[in-house]
Amino acid sequence: MIDHRRLGRDLGLFTSDPLAGAGLPLWLPAGAAARHAVEEYLRDLERQAGYQHVVTPPLGRRELFERSGHLDHFAEEMFPPMRLSADDELVLRPSLCPHHALVYRCRGRSWRDLPLRIAEMGGMYRAERSGVLGGLARVRAISLNDAHNFCALEQVGAEVAEILRLIRVAHAALGVRPAGFRLSLRGSGQRYVGEEDDWARAEELLRAALDGVEYTEDVGAAAFYGPKIDIQVEDAAGREWTLSTVQLDFDKPERFDLSYIDSGGARRRPVLVHRSLVGSMERLFSYLIEVHEGAFPVWYAPVQLVVLPVAAAQDGAADEVVAAARAAGLRAEVDRSGSLGGRIRDAAQARIPYVAVVGPREAAAGHVLLRLRDGQHLAPLPAADALALVARVVATRSPKLLPPG
Ligand SMILES: [Zn+2]
Repeated sequence: MIDHRRLGRDLGLFTSDPLAGAGLPLWLPAGAAARHAVEEYLRDLERQAGYQHVVTPPLGRRELFERSGHLDHFAEEMFPPMRLSADDELVLRPSLCPHHALVYRCRGRSWRDLPLRIAEMGGMYRAERSGVLGGLARVRAISLNDAHNFCALEQVGAEVAEILRLIRVAHAALGVRPAGFRLSLRGSGQRYVGEEDDWARAEELLRAALDGVEYTEDVGAAAFYGPKIDIQVEDAAGREWTLSTVQLDFDKPERFDLSYIDSGGARRRPVLVHRSLVGSMERLFSYLIEVHEGAFPVWYAPVQLVVLPVAAAQDGAADEVVAAARAAGLRAEVDRSGSLGGRIRDAAQARIPYVAVVGPREAAAGHVLLRLRDGQHLAPLPAADALALVARVVATRSPKLLPPG
């Protein structure tokens, strides 16, 4: 069976070391390259959709998480506070919302600012038991693709619909295949905060946003502050888990006393929508490694093109192709270690989408022989044309290896 831990090791994507600690993986150069490509894509997508990015620290004063309700309702999933002195205790944050609520209220807000969409690829921590940790799927240090959209109540429906659209766009680009939509509702028990009316209204708004979408309901799977839409995926072992999420929250705006001035000059309370398009980078990659069996779409493949000189006499020509590829924004490398057949096999094992072979005839003509990851060979073509071909596939974020047409 495909296991992202094994593939991740074989492909040099990430490692772990008992000395560093369980659930604290180290991303290696190949994994970091793929992750950075995905992060840049998400930031662009969000920027185009009107999000503003911020940078906030992964820890804060104990009082911040008392105010947010996390220490009262979520403490068993958090690391214990770090006490520096009697009045100076710090907490590793379990979510980004408290900091984003402070970003919202750092100045006065009016109806013209709404929806205000504050986004961050931010660090956070969960005190997972050591027995459940493994690879990237369950970790203690998390980088979350997160945003908090502060809206007027009457904007919530359109905002949630737009978030669901963005989720579909991101899934298509990354090659995510959702297993289903889930409406996660409050169960019984003391875990939940907030007013009865707000829970009912939030549920109604989410149901309306899901109109026309097939979904299941899960009672007891809501966040402690509100109901949510979860988009589920299935891993190679058949386990279902949440990748993307949209959550409604009437409670935190109350706790942080958030407000805006409406068009009539009255002070009103915004609604907070928590959303993640693709969840944490760790969980996302545990899934992407398995679903693509390590053969990522070209746009986030760690190395997109490897150039192989047939003999030492073509080293200079191969280096020139690599330099031109890098100048064009591609991730390219040269490999001159061992036999040509061995290097072609290494490239296939590393799931590198394109191999450019440069023999004496190609070097003299400024050509390359392009071999594709799926076994196709192209006729010799000018190096510049080969790079343009790869660049077009990257630019369109196509799942294929040849550009359309
Ligand atoms: Zn949040």
